[in-house]
Amino acid sequence: MLVVMQAPATEEQVSAVCQKIESLGYRAHSIPGAERTAIGITGNKGEVEPGTLEEMAGVQEVIRVTKPYKLVSRDIKEDNTVIRFAGTDATIGGPALAIIAGPCAIENRDQAFAVAERVHRAGAQFFRGGAYKPRTSPYSFQGLGEEGLRIMAEIRQQFGMRIVTEAIDNESLELVEEYADVIQIGARNMQNFSLLKRAGRSRKPVLIKRGMSATLEEFLMAAEYVMSEGNYNVVLCERGVRTFADHTRNTLDLSVVPAVQRLSHLPIVVDPSHGTGKRNKVTPLSRAAVAVGADGLIVEVHHQPDKALSDGMQSLYPDQFDELMAQVRQIAPVVGRTVASTGPQMSPAPSTLSLT
Ligand code: PEP
Ligand code: MN
Repeated sequence: MLVVMQAPATEEQVSAVCQKIESLGYRAHSIPGAERTAIGITGNKGEVEPGTLEEMAGVQEVIRVTKPYKLVSRDIKEDNTVIRFAGTDATIGGPALAIIAGPCAIENRDQAFAVAERVHRAGAQFFRGGAYKPRTSPYSFQGLGEEGLRIMAEIRQQFGMRIVTEAIDNESLELVEEYADVIQIGARNMQNFSLLKRAGRSRKPVLIKRGMSATLEEFLMAAEYVMSEGNYNVVLCERGVRTFADHTRNTLDLSVVPAVQRLSHLPIVVDPSHGTGKRNKVTPLSRAAVAVGADGLIVEVHHQPDKALSDGMQSLYPDQFDELMAQVRQIAPVVGRTVASTGPQMSPAPSTLSLT
């Protein structure tokens, strides 16, 4: 159920409705929009009797939401969610593209700083890097853990980039939320419901990667889990799904971008690195992601990909990331988006788009 408040409803009227909902044993989610506030009602003990709320002051209407996802839906909030970060102009979901770049994993301080310096110079406002790596093999590099988080906190200090990093379980989430700016939930954990609920109790934004074979509805329901716990700052991330195709690691499903945008107010970014698994496909698919209307990109970059401890094959060389950014800067205005200006000492972008 959804309570739509009248445009001029006062804060007192909104909170009286919330209190009423809670007194009936449900959870109230007050979501302010550009035009009016809507209050989502969640709980798993059946439906509220709408008559009780309809008569309250400031209430315009009470709507039954038939879709399985409620807080994620545009029914509750028509305008796009824009996630802001205190102390910076970086946003996710606004007109500026969110460019998130960095190595797959933080391997050591020198590696992390070498990559950070380059992606910052190219204009990335967010730095990515795994400190906890969910690897297919238990014998592969599993990440530096808290040491990796400390290195990323230093990178934020030095370059001002906001940090995006994965939590793989409740224990790592405790640390990730302490050090990072955005908590990443990986594809393999997209349906780890207890982890999603824990992320929903955090105050940090959550980036959810699409599960390897998740449908659109399952993807949105993962976000609903986080939001149902009261954390409304959620970013979705398309990172490719498993198909019969074997010319790429995964099949990047760019059609999910407009599909999500039609149903949900949440931002959606694209990861062309895991989406393709091949370095030579990352830039073309980044162009396509921006053209299709994605709210940002998450790209793996390594200064020595041949020596990378994970995902070297799909990591761009820093020069290739410069070129990717130059191309994205040309495509963005065509779809009404902007890209943050480059960091210090960046050479000017080429004036023509060369498709490589
Ligand atoms: C990653 O971002 O490094 C990662 C492991 O991604 P995914 O969960 O999409 O495989
Ligand atoms: Mn990776």
